[in-house]
Amino acid sequence: MYLQNTNLYMEIFSSGSKQKHKKTNYQLLLITSLKKEIESALKLCLKDLAAEIRVIGFSCRHCGKCCRWAFGDNRVMLIPTEIEKIREFTGLSKLEIAGPFVPEIVPLDRLEENENITEGFLGASEETGVSFSPEILELIQENIDRDGNIHAFGWMLRQNSNLDCIFLEKSTSKCQVYPVRPMLCKTYPFYIKYLKLHTCECEGLGYPISAEDSQELAENLFYRYVSELEDMLAMYKEFVNFKKGEKGLELAKKKLVDSTCTYIVHDSTGNYKFIDY
Ligand code: SF4
Repeated sequence: MYLQNTNLYMEIFSSGSKQKHKKTNYQLLLITSLKKEIESALKLCLKDLAAEIRVIGFSCRHCGKCCRWAFGDNRVMLIPTEIEKIREFTGLSKLEIAGPFVPEIVPLDRLEENENITEGFLGASEETGVSFSPEILELIQENIDRDGNIHAFGWMLRQNSNLDCIFLEKSTSKCQVYPVRPMLCKTYPFYIKYLKLHTCECEGLGYPISAEDSQELAENLFYRYVSELEDMLAMYKEFVNFKKGEKGLELAKKKLVDSTCTYIVHDSTGNYKFIDY
């Protein structure tokens, strides 16, 4: 079983609206800079990237720490094609696999429990074991529309009540979706940001890596970087501004009390509205 105690309610709306709408200057700026970054990303030299990886060195120690909350921010952002692959592999629904990607805010009590988390994050629902509180809703009110819907810009892998990834097999620390695991997992602890290679904290860094493995990692990293940028660009192009209003926050708080929080997730294919409680 991948999921225990699923508390997803239902998907009530999904759309790939092609409605014409005016972009703000900020959105236009984002679109232009994303296009430029993609253009430069496509010119990245995979040979140089592989050489850089080889100098850093990496060999997975199979500790499973990157999939667990206790060792730091283990959120895994997903693009729609990745969710689809996992869906085909597992037979789970989209909403069983992924939830709204939400800003990095941690309720204080959870933060105190885990000294590895310095920035913090907020689980999207009780599914994750971290419930919204009215205070948290206030912090993210920029993302709440006048009808009390909470907007998110992308998806993240669902987590268990202990905040570990739902696909981590507890007893063996093995990934249950290994053949179709997300690109982030495949390329961890490396990532590319603004054309530069970066690493996250990981016990496997510094170990020798073969030329073939570093080349494969470089190819996967390149693919991930470009796919994520292209997906983000498509999302911004598709995005329709939502209307804010004074009553939105109060409505969202009421829905929270009634366990009927509504989310609208924007992605490259449109937007999805659903109740998650
Ligand atoms: S999908 Fe697999 S590799 Fe990725 S975080 Fe979950 S268990 Fe770990």
